[in-house]
Amino acid sequence: MSAAHARIQAVTRVFEATAETRAVQALGPIDFDIGRGEFVAVVGPSGCGKSTLLDIVAGLARPTAGTVTFEDQPVVGPPDGVGVVFQQDAAFAWLSVIDNVAFGLRRRGMAARAAREVAAEALAMTGLSEFATAYPAQLSGGMRQRVCIARTLVLRPRLLLLDEPFGALDAQTRLLMGDELLQIWRQSGASVMLITHSLEEAALLADRVAVMSARPGRIIAEIATGWPAERDSRLVEDPRFGRLTAELWSHLREEARQAMATQKP
Ligand code: ADP
Ligand code: MG
Repeated sequence: MSAAHARIQAVTRVFEATAETRAVQALGPIDFDIGRGEFVAVVGPSGCGKSTLLDIVAGLARPTAGTVTFEDQPVVGPPDGVGVVFQQDAAFAWLSVIDNVAFGLRRRGMAARAAREVAAEALAMTGLSEFATAYPAQLSGGMRQRVCIARTLVLRPRLLLLDEPFGALDAQTRLLMGDELLQIWRQSGASVMLITHSLEEAALLADRVAVMSARPGRIIAEIATGWPAERDSRLVEDPRFGRLTAELWSHLREEARQAMATQKP
Protein backbone atom coordinates (compact mmCIF):
# COMPACT_ATOMS: atom_id res chain seq x y z
CA MET A 1 0.00 0.00 0.00
CA SER A 2 1.27 3.48 -0.89
CA ALA A 3 1.41 6.45 1.48
CA ALA A 4 -1.65 7.35 3.56
CA HIS A 5 -4.68 8.50 1.63
CA ALA A 6 -6.06 10.24 4.70
CA ARG A 7 -4.04 11.02 7.80
CA ILE A 8 -5.40 11.87 11.24
CA GLN A 9 -2.76 13.41 13.46
CA ALA A 10 -3.11 14.20 17.17
CA VAL A 11 -6.79 15.02 16.70
CA THR A 12 -8.85 15.96 19.75
CA ARG A 13 -12.31 17.46 20.08
CA VAL A 14 -13.68 19.23 23.13
CA PHE A 15 -17.26 20.44 23.20
CA GLU A 16 -17.26 23.73 25.10
CA ALA A 17 -19.34 24.19 28.22
CA THR A 18 -22.66 25.96 27.82
CA ALA A 19 -25.01 27.46 30.41
CA GLU A 20 -26.56 24.00 30.90
CA THR A 21 -23.67 21.63 30.20
CA ARG A 22 -20.12 21.05 31.28
CA ALA A 23 -17.30 20.88 28.71
CA VAL A 24 -17.01 17.40 27.19
CA GLN A 25 -13.75 16.00 25.91
CA ALA A 26 -15.32 13.86 23.21
CA LEU A 27 -12.33 12.56 21.35
CA GLY A 28 -8.66 11.86 21.26
CA PRO A 29 -5.89 12.35 20.87
CA ILE A 30 -6.17 10.18 17.77
CA ASP A 31 -3.45 9.24 15.30
CA PHE A 32 -4.64 7.10 12.44
CA ASP A 33 -3.92 6.64 8.75
CA ILE A 34 -6.19 5.28 6.06
CA GLY A 35 -4.22 3.70 3.23
CA ARG A 36 -5.11 4.23 -0.40
CA GLY A 37 -7.74 1.69 -1.34
CA GLU A 38 -7.87 0.35 2.18
CA PHE A 39 -11.13 -0.64 3.90
CA VAL A 40 -10.96 0.28 7.58
CA ALA A 41 -13.65 -0.16 10.19
CA VAL A 42 -13.86 1.77 13.44
CA VAL A 43 -15.66 0.20 16.39
CA GLY A 44 -16.17 1.64 19.83
CA PRO A 45 -18.71 1.92 22.61
CA SER A 46 -21.68 4.22 22.27
CA GLY A 47 -20.77 7.87 22.86
CA CYS A 48 -17.00 7.36 22.45
CA GLY A 49 -16.70 9.92 19.66
CA LYS A 50 -17.01 7.83 16.48
CA SER A 51 -19.37 10.24 14.73
CA THR A 52 -17.32 13.18 15.95
CA LEU A 53 -14.25 11.60 14.34
CA LEU A 54 -16.07 10.96 11.06
CA ASP A 55 -17.36 14.53 10.94
CA ILE A 56 -13.83 15.83 11.41
CA VAL A 57 -12.41 13.60 8.66
CA ALA A 58 -15.29 14.68 6.41
CA GLY A 59 -14.44 18.34 7.02
CA LEU A 60 -17.87 18.93 8.55
CA ALA A 61 -16.40 19.78 11.96
CA ARG A 62 -13.05 21.17 13.07
CA PRO A 63 -10.85 19.42 15.60
CA THR A 64 -9.99 21.33 18.77
CA ALA A 65 -6.37 20.32 18.15
CA GLY A 66 -4.54 18.27 15.57
CA THR A 67 -4.86 17.96 11.82
CA VAL A 68 -6.46 15.82 9.15
CA THR A 69 -5.06 15.61 5.66
CA PHE A 70 -6.66 14.03 2.60
CA GLU A 71 -4.43 13.39 -0.42
CA ASP A 72 -1.77 15.47 1.36
CA GLN A 73 -4.01 18.55 1.64
CA PRO A 74 -5.21 19.81 5.03
CA VAL A 75 -8.93 19.26 5.52
CA VAL A 76 -10.57 22.58 6.42
CA GLY A 77 -14.00 21.95 4.89
CA PRO A 78 -15.65 19.12 2.96
CA PRO A 79 -12.97 18.13 0.42
CA ASP A 80 -13.65 17.18 -3.17
CA GLY A 81 -13.41 13.43 -3.47
CA VAL A 82 -14.78 12.58 -0.02
CA GLY A 83 -18.29 11.11 0.19
CA VAL A 84 -20.31 10.59 3.36
CA VAL A 85 -23.24 8.32 4.21
CA PHE A 86 -24.90 8.99 7.56
CA GLN A 87 -26.72 6.62 9.86
CA GLN A 88 -30.18 8.06 9.47
CA ASP A 89 -29.67 9.33 5.99
CA ALA A 90 -32.91 10.34 4.34
CA ALA A 91 -33.74 10.11 0.68
CA PHE A 92 -35.72 13.06 -0.68
CA ALA A 93 -39.33 11.89 -0.47
CA TRP A 94 -40.50 14.09 -3.33
CA LEU A 95 -37.95 12.82 -5.85
CA SER A 96 -37.93 9.49 -7.67
CA VAL A 97 -35.05 7.12 -6.92
CA ILE A 98 -33.10 8.14 -10.01
CA ASP A 99 -33.62 11.84 -9.35
CA ASN A 100 -32.50 11.35 -5.76
CA VAL A 101 -29.29 9.83 -7.08
CA ALA A 102 -28.87 12.46 -9.80
CA PHE A 103 -29.45 15.31 -7.33
CA GLY A 104 -25.79 15.96 -6.46
CA LEU A 105 -24.74 15.87 -10.11
CA ARG A 106 -27.44 18.37 -11.03
CA ARG A 107 -26.27 20.61 -8.23
CA ARG A 108 -22.78 20.43 -9.69
CA GLY A 109 -24.25 21.77 -12.89
CA MET A 110 -24.52 18.58 -14.93
CA ALA A 111 -27.30 18.56 -17.56
CA ALA A 112 -30.39 16.56 -16.60
CA ARG A 113 -29.93 13.87 -19.19
CA ALA A 114 -26.26 13.28 -18.51
CA ALA A 115 -26.93 13.23 -14.77
CA ARG A 116 -29.59 10.56 -15.21
CA GLU A 117 -27.22 8.45 -17.25
CA VAL A 118 -24.55 8.57 -14.56
CA ALA A 119 -27.19 7.98 -11.88
CA ALA A 120 -28.39 4.90 -13.75
CA GLU A 121 -24.90 3.41 -13.43
CA ALA A 122 -24.89 4.01 -9.68
CA LEU A 123 -28.33 2.39 -9.45
CA ALA A 124 -27.00 -0.66 -11.25
CA MET A 125 -24.08 -0.82 -8.82
CA THR A 126 -26.45 -0.82 -5.85
CA GLY A 127 -29.00 -3.19 -7.40
CA LEU A 128 -31.70 -0.54 -7.72
CA SER A 129 -32.14 -0.36 -11.49
CA GLU A 130 -35.65 -1.78 -11.38
CA PHE A 131 -36.73 0.92 -8.93
CA ALA A 132 -35.42 3.97 -10.78
CA THR A 133 -38.86 5.54 -11.12
CA ALA A 134 -40.17 4.50 -7.69
CA TYR A 135 -40.42 6.96 -4.80
CA PRO A 136 -38.68 6.41 -1.44
CA ALA A 137 -41.97 5.71 0.34
CA GLN A 138 -42.48 2.68 -1.90
CA LEU A 139 -39.17 1.11 -0.85
CA SER A 140 -38.03 -0.95 2.12
CA GLY A 141 -35.64 0.59 4.66
CA GLY A 142 -32.72 -1.33 3.17
CA MET A 143 -33.52 -0.08 -0.30
CA ARG A 144 -33.87 3.50 0.90
CA GLN A 145 -30.45 3.24 2.49
CA ARG A 146 -29.11 1.97 -0.83
CA VAL A 147 -30.52 5.07 -2.49
CA CYS A 148 -28.51 7.16 -0.04
CA ILE A 149 -25.39 5.14 -0.76
CA ALA A 150 -25.95 5.45 -4.53
CA ARG A 151 -26.46 9.20 -4.10
CA THR A 152 -22.99 9.43 -2.57
CA LEU A 153 -21.32 6.96 -4.97
CA VAL A 154 -22.51 8.84 -8.01
CA LEU A 155 -20.12 11.65 -7.08
CA ARG A 156 -17.27 9.11 -7.37
CA PRO A 157 -15.69 9.66 -3.97
CA ARG A 158 -12.12 8.50 -3.61
CA LEU A 159 -12.67 8.24 0.13
CA LEU A 160 -16.02 6.93 1.33
CA LEU A 161 -16.98 7.63 4.96
CA LEU A 162 -19.91 5.66 6.37
CA ASP A 163 -21.38 6.32 9.82
CA GLU A 164 -23.32 3.22 10.90
CA PRO A 165 -25.00 3.07 7.51
CA PHE A 166 -26.78 -0.21 8.20
CA GLY A 167 -27.69 0.52 11.81
CA ALA A 168 -31.42 0.55 11.21
CA LEU A 169 -31.55 -2.67 9.17
CA ASP A 170 -32.28 -6.24 10.19
CA ALA A 171 -29.37 -8.68 10.52
CA GLN A 172 -29.87 -10.47 7.20
CA THR A 173 -30.22 -7.27 5.19
CA ARG A 174 -27.10 -5.97 6.91
CA LEU A 175 -25.08 -8.95 5.74
CA LEU A 176 -26.27 -8.53 2.16
CA MET A 177 -25.66 -4.77 2.20
CA GLY A 178 -22.17 -5.53 3.49
CA ASP A 179 -21.59 -7.76 0.47
CA GLU A 180 -22.74 -4.97 -1.81
CA LEU A 181 -20.46 -2.52 -0.07
CA LEU A 182 -17.51 -4.87 -0.60
CA GLN A 183 -18.36 -5.11 -4.27
CA ILE A 184 -18.61 -1.33 -4.60
CA TRP A 185 -15.29 -0.99 -2.80
CA ARG A 186 -13.58 -3.41 -5.19
CA GLN A 187 -15.13 -1.85 -8.28
CA SER A 188 -14.49 1.76 -7.33
CA GLY A 189 -11.04 1.42 -5.81
CA ALA A 190 -12.11 3.95 -3.17
CA SER A 191 -10.73 3.97 0.35
CA VAL A 192 -13.41 3.25 2.94
CA MET A 193 -13.82 4.21 6.60
CA LEU A 194 -16.81 2.42 8.08
CA ILE A 195 -18.01 3.35 11.55
CA THR A 196 -20.03 0.58 13.12
CA HIS A 197 -21.03 -0.68 16.53
CA SER A 198 -21.21 -4.21 15.10
CA LEU A 199 -18.06 -6.20 15.81
CA GLU A 200 -19.18 -8.86 13.32
CA GLU A 201 -19.65 -6.29 10.59
CA ALA A 202 -16.20 -4.85 11.25
CA ALA A 203 -14.55 -8.30 11.36
CA LEU A 204 -16.22 -9.35 8.13
CA LEU A 205 -15.85 -6.26 5.98
CA ALA A 206 -12.63 -4.49 6.87
CA ASP A 207 -8.97 -4.98 6.01
CA ARG A 208 -8.17 -3.42 9.37
CA VAL A 209 -10.27 -2.64 12.42
CA ALA A 210 -9.54 0.21 14.82
CA VAL A 211 -10.99 -0.22 18.30
CA MET A 212 -11.81 2.92 20.25
CA SER A 213 -11.85 3.38 24.01
CA ALA A 214 -14.72 4.81 26.01
CA ARG A 215 -14.96 8.62 25.87
CA PRO A 216 -12.72 10.45 25.19
CA GLY A 217 -12.24 8.01 22.34
CA ARG A 218 -8.69 6.97 21.61
CA ILE A 219 -7.57 4.06 19.47
CA ILE A 220 -6.63 1.23 21.76
CA ALA A 221 -6.09 -1.53 19.20
CA GLU A 222 -5.67 -1.99 15.47
CA ILE A 223 -6.34 -5.43 14.10
CA ALA A 224 -5.57 -6.53 10.55
CA THR A 225 -8.13 -9.10 9.42
CA GLY A 226 -5.98 -10.67 6.72
CA TRP A 227 -8.93 -11.28 4.38
CA PRO A 228 -8.40 -11.27 0.61
CA ALA A 229 -10.13 -8.45 -1.34
CA GLU A 230 -12.46 -11.04 -2.89
CA ARG A 231 -14.54 -11.74 0.18
CA ASP A 232 -18.18 -11.81 1.18
CA SER A 233 -20.50 -12.72 4.01
CA ARG A 234 -19.87 -16.45 3.58
CA LEU A 235 -16.83 -15.77 5.74
CA VAL A 236 -19.14 -16.11 8.73
CA GLU A 237 -18.48 -19.84 8.59
CA ASP A 238 -14.70 -19.36 8.59
CA PRO A 239 -13.32 -20.07 12.06
CA ARG A 240 -11.10 -17.00 11.71
CA PHE A 241 -14.22 -14.83 11.66
CA GLY A 242 -15.19 -16.05 15.11
CA ARG A 243 -11.68 -15.54 16.40
CA LEU A 244 -11.51 -11.99 15.02
CA THR A 245 -14.85 -11.07 16.55
CA ALA A 246 -13.78 -12.52 19.89
CA GLU A 247 -10.51 -10.61 19.74
CA LEU A 248 -12.37 -7.35 19.07
CA TRP A 249 -14.67 -8.03 22.00
CA SER A 250 -11.76 -8.74 24.30
CA HIS A 251 -10.45 -5.24 23.56
CA LEU A 252 -13.84 -3.60 23.75
CA ARG A 253 -15.51 -5.29 26.69
CA GLU A 254 -14.01 -3.11 29.46
CA GLU A 255 -14.57 0.03 27.40
CA ALA A 256 -18.19 -0.81 26.69
CA ARG A 257 -18.74 -1.55 30.37
CA GLN A 258 -17.21 1.79 31.31
CA ALA A 259 -19.32 3.62 28.72
CA MET A 260 -22.45 1.94 30.05
CA ALA A 261 -21.62 2.86 33.64
CA THR A 262 -21.11 6.54 32.81
CA GLN A 263 -24.11 6.94 30.55
CA LYS A 264 -26.76 9.25 31.83
CA PRO A 265 -30.14 7.61 32.51
P1 ADP B 1 -20.58 8.01 19.01
O1 ADP B 1 -20.83 8.32 17.57
O2 ADP B 1 -19.36 7.19 19.24
O3 ADP B 1 -21.76 7.36 19.67
P2 ADP B 1 -20.44 10.92 19.28
O4 ADP B 1 -19.27 11.26 18.44
O5 ADP B 1 -21.78 11.15 18.69
O6 ADP B 1 -20.31 9.39 19.77
O7 ADP B 1 -20.37 11.71 20.64
C1 ADP B 1 -19.24 11.67 21.49
C2 ADP B 1 -19.51 12.44 22.76
O8 ADP B 1 -19.59 13.83 22.48
C3 ADP B 1 -20.82 12.05 23.40
O9 ADP B 1 -20.63 12.04 24.80
C4 ADP B 1 -21.76 13.15 22.99
O10 ADP B 1 -22.76 13.34 23.98
C5 ADP B 1 -20.84 14.34 22.91
N1 ADP B 1 -21.29 15.29 21.89
C6 ADP B 1 -21.52 15.03 20.57
N2 ADP B 1 -21.89 16.12 19.90
C7 ADP B 1 -21.94 17.12 20.83
C8 ADP B 1 -22.25 18.52 20.77
N3 ADP B 1 -22.60 19.12 19.62
N4 ADP B 1 -22.19 19.21 21.93
C9 ADP B 1 -21.82 18.64 23.09
N5 ADP B 1 -21.48 17.33 23.22
C10 ADP B 1 -21.56 16.58 22.11
MG1 MG C 1 -22.42 7.99 16.29
